[in-house]
Amino acid sequence: MNTAVAENLPDAQGHFGPYGGRYVPETLMHPLQELEAEYFRAQHDPEFQRELSYYLTEFVGRPTPLYFAERLTKDLGGAKIYLKREDLNHTGAHKINNAMGQILLAKRMGKTRIIAETGAGQHGVATATVAAMFGLKCVIYMGAVDCERQMLNVYRMKMLGAEVVPVHAGQKTLKEAVNEAMRDWVTNIRGTHYILGTAYGAHPYPVMVRNFQRVIGDEARAQILEKEKRLPDLLIACVGGGSNAIGLFYPFLDDPSVRMIGVEAGGLGIQPEQHAARFHGGSLGVLQGTRSYILQDDFGQIQLTHSVSAGLDYAAVGPEHAFLHDAKRVAYTYATDDQALEAFMKLARLEGIIPALESAHAIAECIVQAPKLGKDKIIIVNLSGRGDKDVAQAADKIGLQMPK
Ligand SMILES: *Cc1c(COP(=O)(O)O)cnc(C)c1O
Repeated sequence: MNTAVAENLPDAQGHFGPYGGRYVPETLMHPLQELEAEYFRAQHDPEFQRELSYYLTEFVGRPTPLYFAERLTKDLGGAKIYLKREDLNHTGAHKINNAMGQILLAKRMGKTRIIAETGAGQHGVATATVAAMFGLKCVIYMGAVDCERQMLNVYRMKMLGAEVVPVHAGQKTLKEAVNEAMRDWVTNIRGTHYILGTAYGAHPYPVMVRNFQRVIGDEARAQILEKEKRLPDLLIACVGGGSNAIGLFYPFLDDPSVRMIGVEAGGLGIQPEQHAARFHGGSLGVLQGTRSYILQDDFGQIQLTHSVSAGLDYAAVGPEHAFLHDAKRVAYTYATDDQALEAFMKLARLEGIIPALESAHAIAECIVQAPKLGKDKIIIVNLSGRGDKDVAQAADKIGLQMPK
């Protein structure tokens, strides 16, 4: 493909080829245009960039290390493996890179109230954190089932002063939480900014979130050039909506020698309603503001999904990934629940790092790829978050017993 094309996407209407765009009710068109205009002004305003970079350094803890995983490398016996340590960010995942960018934008627009959706709760926690930090009112929508599954994060959000609204509609998970957040936004447009948590939704969210997350790839590129004096051969990241993956991949798109693999949730295997691998059974459709690959039935009804990791458990994927998939610039595969759990344990035992179950999907693919590559090759895996939130669930799955 002509990678320079990818660099210039999306177009002015937010299209990545046939994907993306802005499919929203009339009442949301104006606020989205306003957000787009303000975002592009901020992006070219050195003062905004200085402020963002100040908080990313002083509050979030960037840059995150690019860590050579020596024992994992030795164990797998192939390519040299580096981990981009997004798990070391304040609040424990990459989500805060975007939440910080968007709250500075909200402040610039004079907004006084923040809303967000959350699945596993990581984006809700990141949003509640930056809202507390700047003294803005904060409401988080979360599926009732996810509230049960991720109680720790519900408590964290409440402690940070956010109101958490459990959503009882439908499957009671992320998709319904997004619907409620959009409904709130339509009703309270004037003073409210909606901090969407991934590279998804109506234009300008996919491009804006990608640009707030590209700090991951920009840093990784500089770090690997410093450590190895050359570019990596392969990048691997898990793909929910797609923000941590596009954040790592984007600054390398124009380097043809760098291969990239996005890893979706294979759940219990590729049968309807047992997984969330949109590139393995999805088809073209529109969901929650954008056009992309979607898991749907013959009537366009959204299918149920399953994954051991709530953060990857969504029926659609960000439009830029759909474009990169069709252009064959990025390969998309999946890891099953079992592969992810095995990778989770392996990283804990070999490297002393307990990864988020989402990130464990990327590690699982690294376990497949590294032995196939020579010792002179280099892989960078995006470790999108830490596993504290998943410890109870993983202990239950692998049958850990309390010492008597
Ligand atoms: C939310 C989350 C993901 C999935 O979201 P993306 O937008 O695809 O990055 C992955 N890893 C962690 C740790 C998360 O919290």
